Amino acid sequence: MLITVNGLVARSYPTGNHDRVIQIITPDHGRLSVMIKGGSSGRSGTAASCTQLFTYGNYELYQGKGGDLYWYRGGSVTRSFYGLSTDLARMALATYLCDLTAELTGEEHSEEETEQLLRMLLNSLHALEQGGYSPEIVKAVFELRAASLMGYCPDLTGCSVCGEGYPEQAYFDIMNGRLICADCQTKRNRLLGRDAVREEAELGERRVICPVSPSTLAAMRYALTAPDKKIFSFSLKDREEEMSFGRAAETFLLNQLERDFDTLRFYRSVVI
Ligand SMILES: [Zn+2]
Repeated sequence: MLITVNGLVARSYPTGNHDRVIQIITPDHGRLSVMIKGGSSGRSGTAASCTQLFTYGNYELYQGKGGDLYWYRGGSVTRSFYGLSTDLARMALATYLCDLTAELTGEEHSEEETEQLLRMLLNSLHALEQGGYSPEIVKAVFELRAASLMGYCPDLTGCSVCGEGYPEQAYFDIMNGRLICADCQTKRNRLLGRDAVREEAELGERRVICPVSPSTLAAMRYALTAPDKKIFSFSLKDREEEMSFGRAAETFLLNQLERDFDTLRFYRSVVI
């Protein structure tokens, strides 16, 4: 069967001697794996430009018999983000965001969720390519928003114990996706005693907690609620605040997914 789809090339890897498999994220068919014959031999003609990583295009695909693999027949470029490849750190971050999206869209999700995630990815690639936005903020906003879209939305309305909405200092309880203010955390530690807290940490009840300042908390709330077009339009006062926001978002997402990404490790290795 022949189908025509719009989508973004989010993963690409060689297979066999001369071929290549790409993964395209599409709004209505989710993630599709597509074989490109001769794709890694340099003899694939127009396929070479429209099947490159970070390309959003229109693709004609044959569905293989009974399998999940599609075969590339033709296509055209709608929008290429290949300009990202001129900067190693931005390219590495874009590769991670695409990898993350491909991973998330490989599971069962509604068309609406996939479409929103894809739109978020396109906005992020655009922001990275244009510059003017902190890559760390783009990454953290994407991670929090992606987690929320996939059904892991943290409750950041206030302290989960006393309800305080604007605590001076708070902790983000990663495993449970909720806040606890510093006062309640202190009381809790006193009540439990240090040994119990240590035991709890050693036993499966992992309570990974990240300290969050009022501005980090405001950034996290903004990331989860801002309209798509304004999602990166904020700044934090310094690099330390950005790192704190980034750590909270990344740790939360990876804990929910219970996995790590080689592409994320590579991004870390080029920015640190
Ligand atoms: Zn509290």
